[in-house]
Amino acid sequence: MENNGRMLWRYNKEEKHEEIDSGDKKKPLTVRTALGLLLENIDPNDERTLVPMGHGDPSPFQCFRTAATAEDAVVATLRSATSNCYATTYGLPPARKAVADYISKDLPYKLSADDIHLTAGCKQAIQLAITSLATPGSNILLPKPTFAMYDAAAAYTGLKVQQYDLLPERGWEVDIDSVEALADSNTVAIVVINPGNPSGSVYTRQHLQKVAETARKLGLLVIADEVYEHITFGTNPFVRMGEFASIVPMLTVGSLSKRWLVPGWRLGWLVTTDPTGFLQKSQAAVPQILQNTKQEFFSKCIDVLRLDADIIYEKLKEIPCITCPSKPEGSMFIMVKLNVFMLDGILDDADFCLKLAKQEKVILLPGSTVGMENWLRITCALDPSVLEEGLDRIKAFCQRNAKAH
Ligand SMILES: *Cc1c(COP(=O)(O)O)cnc(C)c1O
Repeated sequence: MENNGRMLWRYNKEEKHEEIDSGDKKKPLTVRTALGLLLENIDPNDERTLVPMGHGDPSPFQCFRTAATAEDAVVATLRSATSNCYATTYGLPPARKAVADYISKDLPYKLSADDIHLTAGCKQAIQLAITSLATPGSNILLPKPTFAMYDAAAAYTGLKVQQYDLLPERGWEVDIDSVEALADSNTVAIVVINPGNPSGSVYTRQHLQKVAETARKLGLLVIADEVYEHITFGTNPFVRMGEFASIVPMLTVGSLSKRWLVPGWRLGWLVTTDPTGFLQKSQAAVPQILQNTKQEFFSKCIDVLRLDADIIYEKLKEIPCITCPSKPEGSMFIMVKLNVFMLDGILDDADFCLKLAKQEKVILLPGSTVGMENWLRITCALDPSVLEEGLDRIKAFCQRNAKAH
């Protein structure tokens, strides 16, 4: 049983390496595959509760339930039976207007409904943005560590990917030198994720401006992923990249999924299609959701995330083999370095996560799935008591597997 799981894991890792070497069509080890494999390896006789610190979906926890206003808005729209018709291609005009007003609150200029295309979640916005940029021979700059959806969308369209570095010791800022070194005449765009997944970083206004100026100098479009907009709990406030749209043109992608804690509603913005028809009904509720959600809802959610991030940061100090170079300030994640050399019989990040799942029923995401081998991504969007339990188990696991000295 143990060997089986390990071999499956290795097999997938090897496939990934092969894919990188030969560029053929084999499947890479994705976040979803990794999490699936870890879940399969949980001991069915372990009666303890599962601690899911690898996912990015807080919605199962009661403390992260969406705002009542959002639920009411969708229910009222459904009951009204006024929105069961086909939507216009780019989304319902009142919903587009509401998104324009909502985003404009943070900008020095006003967007109009014409600037907004509604999508089935932020993921579809990403797919559309990437597809629209893919011309033969062109490439795109993605951050490392990354959000895997961009690689997948690029691979699908034939757009080549280049990874620029984020600097862990500098709060995961963009390594401008690495961007300048990578960009060539075929580079069409740079993706900037702020607040960051998986880094938990929140960029300052000055840094965003510098990135915008660099993009302009290099002739790149900016794709600003702001799906974690306003989810900040450190010292830097959230600043929209769009503040610098006069420097460089940009596409902004976002959704209700993270700030409203409803990833299953599949409501995002950039361009729309509506394969399921659900988008149509919930679209009609968008104006009420964006306009009527009370600040208390957001504050409560941010308070839990801040508490969770503090718990993780403090508890990790007691675990020598895991170090955190940069305290998270936003989004729902924290990237930490795994010092495998301090552990006995653990090969790498993937092996660590597999054994942790098996022995402790705790799921963490191996950094190699987001482009950083021997790092780990920890989700802070958990009920704080569950989180503490998970960290205690990680500590016990690390102690048990520490190298004797
Ligand atoms: C979750 C996430 C998305 C996708 O959001 P959906 O609205 O659920 O499609 C996009 N970008 C980043 C960085 C994310 O973490």
